Amino acid sequence: MKQATARIDPEKIGFDFDGVIADIGEAFVRLACSDYGYCSLRVEDLSSFQVEECLDIPGRVIERIFDDILEDSLGVGLKPMSGAIETLSGLSRLATITVITARPSLEPVRAWFDHFCDTETNSRIQLIATGDHDDKERYIRQCGLHHFVDDRTITCLYLAEAGLAPLVFSQPWNNGRHQLPSVEDWKQLGALLDIDAHNPFAEQEKPR
Ligand SMILES: [Mg+2]
Repeated sequence: MKQATARIDPEKIGFDFDGVIADIGEAFVRLACSDYGYCSLRVEDLSSFQVEECLDIPGRVIERIFDDILEDSLGVGLKPMSGAIETLSGLSRLATITVITARPSLEPVRAWFDHFCDTETNSRIQLIATGDHDDKERYIRQCGLHHFVDDRTITCLYLAEAGLAPLVFSQPWNNGRHQLPSVEDWKQLGALLDIDAHNPFAEQEKPR
């Protein structure tokens, strides 16, 4: 695993939603306890993207938790990853933000952005639902993007093989599973996008 360091053109980067912008790990662990009584879990225990491989919870319960999150993301209290909204807001002043999710339905994602982002930022976000984890490449190309931030190792490995430049967003389920460039958090992503340097408001706030 290597940390990404090269500057990225804000016009050329796209983002996955769950596990990158939205903290699906926190939601999964919280709902497993509050709704299904599995209360000894921690996010760090989610060591595989296929969580049924790493947890001692029946597959049907795992499926129901994910269905609940996907169907009513706001209702279950799905939170943004730390710093995500602030960085996306800054980025929206520089470029259109493209979010490509493998979810089958966009409405809960749209409602989530409407809740967490201001109108101006939302007007600069384009959302795409592929309904398939393995079908992101063509949308990334159609949108003219080169970089893509995703938390699913297989997606990132595939995109790298296809000649694109994935960035793995570090999560317990991708830790140690790849040699691709990665980012630890949104602060690091914001630095790679050089958002402050582009941001006239940030410039004004600098001490003389
Ligand atoms: Mg994801």
